[in-house]
Amino acid sequence: MSPPAPAALSYPFATIPESGGVVRVAEGIVWASLPIPFTGLRQVNIWFLRDGPGWTMIDCGHGDEATRARLLELFESALEGRPVTRLVLTHFHPDHVGNSGFVCAHWGGLLPVMAQAEWFAANLAVRSAYTDAFGDRASFHALHGLAPERAAQFDSGSARYAKGVQLPPAFQRIAEGQSLRIDGDEWVAIRGGGHSPEHISLWCRARAILIAGDQILPTISTNISVWPTEPLADPLGLFLDSCRHFHDIIPPETLILPSHRRPFFGIQARARELLAHHGERLSVVLAACAEPRAAGELLDVMFTRALDGHQLGFAMGEALAHLNHLVCIGHLERLPVEHGVQRFRRRPGAPDQIDPSR
Ligand SMILES: [Zn+2]
Repeated sequence: MSPPAPAALSYPFATIPESGGVVRVAEGIVWASLPIPFTGLRQVNIWFLRDGPGWTMIDCGHGDEATRARLLELFESALEGRPVTRLVLTHFHPDHVGNSGFVCAHWGGLLPVMAQAEWFAANLAVRSAYTDAFGDRASFHALHGLAPERAAQFDSGSARYAKGVQLPPAFQRIAEGQSLRIDGDEWVAIRGGGHSPEHISLWCRARAILIAGDQILPTISTNISVWPTEPLADPLGLFLDSCRHFHDIIPPETLILPSHRRPFFGIQARARELLAHHGERLSVVLAACAEPRAAGELLDVMFTRALDGHQLGFAMGEALAHLNHLVCIGHLERLPVEHGVQRFRRRPGAPDQIDPSR
């Protein structure tokens, strides 16, 4: 990692735009916020970038009637009578792509610009073959030791992806390193890992602006989960790699436009905070595994707040992400399944503290 940069984050905008309102964050860049129906997240940011005779729109909110009504109001009030001519989607999660079918059709058949793996993930998820495969997720949770009363809570409290997403029939691919020309400026796609299969952030070096998506958020940490479709995955390893990458390539004076909460300066400080946060979580998990532990048995160690049914699924995914990463870096052993439960044990000689900053 490069030399130390400013220690703190700063927020140039005091408040998130109110419902129906917008804030201009830079020349030709407009910020709007849409509500989302999940616990914890509350709102998602949408960006409109002036683009020749029209606008490039980044992400489009959770797919429900109320959000679509707000989008129509925004199209009326915030776009100076110009059309949306391009829709870019950072990743496949429902609060980002939910209204993509609606927005693309409304503006005359746009092809959303997104990474190929995100397009495929969205198409699996709307067919209930990924995040909505609740039967598979429940068996996975049982294998990983989730207590029965919590399993019941998960069943009754989970939001369905397919209910909040309507996709368009086709898309246009963008990949790491490719760029989009938006109003004469070059915005390059940077692939992030750990949160979704091929998350794309857009960076304009000349303007010192990064549209970060969910890859780097201020104040809340991005969910990093293991899913039953890839049980041995190491998404936390990918996320930590991404934090180091963003830390090293994005200049400190860059304005960061995240998908949740407020724009900020201080990406190096934020990347360091995220690395330290996960280092501390990894150390806690490793210590708890002095005795064999399953992911479900670590929830009370890792999460001090109460978890509702929707959050339980993410908490299980997050606990497993930390366990799998510790296996991948050689400090934990994945034990043979016993009485139907998968447990993990600390390896002799494992360190007390994990420091992922290098
Ligand atoms: Zn997301």
